[in-house]
This record gives sequence, structure tokens and C-alpha cells, in this order.
Amino acid sequence: MALVTTKEMFKKAYEGGYAIGAFNINNMEIIQAITEAAAEEKSPVILQVSAGARKYAKHAYLMALAKAAVEDSGVDFALHLDHGADFEVCKSCIDGGFTSVMIDGSHHSFEDNIALTKKVVEYAHARGVVVEGELGVLAGVEDDIAAENSSYTKPEEVEEFVTRTGVDSLAISIGTSHGAYKFTAKQCTRNEHGVLVPPPLRFDILEEVGKRLPGFPIVLHGASSVAHECVSEINALGGKLPDAVGIPEEQLRRAAKMAVCKINIDSDIRLAMTAGIRRVLAEKPEAFDPREYLKVARAEVKKMVAHKIVNVLGSKNTL
Ligand SMILES: [Zn+2]
Repeated sequence: MALVTTKEMFKKAYEGGYAIGAFNINNMEIIQAITEAAAEEKSPVILQVSAGARKYAKHAYLMALAKAAVEDSGVDFALHLDHGADFEVCKSCIDGGFTSVMIDGSHHSFEDNIALTKKVVEYAHARGVVVEGELGVLAGVEDDIAAENSSYTKPEEVEEFVTRTGVDSLAISIGTSHGAYKFTAKQCTRNEHGVLVPPPLRFDILEEVGKRLPGFPIVLHGASSVAHECVSEINALGGKLPDAVGIPEEQLRRAAKMAVCKINIDSDIRLAMTAGIRRVLAEKPEAFDPREYLKVARAEVKKMVAHKIVNVLGSKNTL
């Protein structure tokens, strides 16, 4: 058992018409929840670390926890850097034991994005590490990643980008968005329960990308559904998350059956954890042992990850 790259996972996922969940990790409880769910559902998963997570928990702790999760669960996981902003942070994660890194050059010009991505790919491949690149800009906010103006990926650019950089997977922009407020109320319609429904994903772009890059793994960022039950519970218990809105799960399931092999999920984990903690503290105001509320929070995250594996990713029983 070991930390592995995503190569084999993506190949099987592409052929099998499902996707691998990439879940963001920040602390021990979250790592345990994700990896226990993966082991029980017999599903591969990617543990991913943002710049913010590295700042919060430190590289050495996350590394040790990821290795402990492999040992404890008996499952191989990939350990991935989410949104590497420059060559240096990618190099530091590659040297520090990650099996996969993302270099996000999507804010640069096409040529600069290619040059930067290629540089990371050369360094990574020489050390057995795989690389995810990005074309097109997502809306929303994720840790330090903020995009005021999103722009869809141009399908006519993907072949040249992949060929010239040598990347192993590519994140594209087809209408997903980072964070718990993916769309303004104005951009959405409301369903019969008054819940905001966002504009549909651009499946035409995904289809065209898939045609141009047959067999090549595509990645969706900002793909939480912003679970309505969690948001309602948080708000009922004193939280303030008005009109939080995400991507409907059936659309993600559809994308997973197409060229999408990796779906990033962070906000739904945050929401499940927060709902669990708020519930314990509301029901037991006398509680002050962190284990009491973190145990419930961990169980909520585990339930959420299992739900995603079965209903969104379609990766149950694929180990
Ligand atoms: Zn992202």
C-alpha cells in the first residue's frame, strides 16, 4: 500500500464511465472521514491540498496524515496539490512526497500558461509525479484563488495545450465555480421549494473537448452541490449562509459519464462538518470536549463522501 499517482485511476475511470472524487483535506478528522468512506465503499479517492491547507496544517503534518490513512485503511490514495500558483510551490510538493500536482496557469496568456505548465511537467515527470493543468477561468473564490471574470475553455485550444505541455489531465471551465456562493441569485431561477437553481453546465464544450482529446482525463473544479440540507441546518442553528448555491448532482453525474475523470469537492465537506458541529453545540450547550463535536463532524463528512461516491462519482466498488 502506498500513495500512488492518478494514472491508473483515471484510465479505469475513463473506461468505466465514472469519476474520481478529489476531496480537500485540512486536518486529521477530514482525512479520516474521506479515507474511511473510500475504504467502505471500495472507491479510489484523491486527497487534495490547497495552498491554504498547507499554510493551516503544514506540509509535514498533511504528509504524515495521508501516509497514516493509507496504512490504516489498506487503500492506495493519490496526494495532490490543488491550484499550484507557481513552479516553486509545485517543486516543493513534488520534492515533499506528493504524487500529483496542479499548476494553475489559467490566469496567464495561452503562451505563458504553456511555458509554465511545461516546466512543471518536465520536473514532475522526471520524478514520477503527474501534473494537472488548467485552461479557462472559473468564477468564485477558493482560498487564495479568486476570479472576477470567468471564461469558458475554448475547445480549439485544448489539443495544442496538451501536446505542447505534456500534462496528464486538464481542468476546464464549463460553468462550475468555486466556493459556497457559486452564482448570484440573479443568475439563477428558483424551483418549487424556493431553492436557487443555477444555469446548466456547458455540456457542448465538454463534448467537444472529449472529441478532440479521446481518452484524455478532464477535471472539474468548483463542483460541490452546496448540499441544501446542510445549509438549512446551519441557518436554522444560527448560521448565516443566505442563498448559497452549487452544481446539481445529476449534472455532475452526467459529466462523470463523459470525459470528466476527476471532480473536486470541498465546500460540501465544509458544510457537512459545520452542520455537525453546530448541531452538537446547540443540543448540548454544556459540551466542551472537542472530541464530542469533532466526532459528529467527522461522521457527517464521512456520510457526505460516501454519498458523493455512490450518487455523483459512480466510483463505488471500483477498487
Ligand atoms: Zn479549484
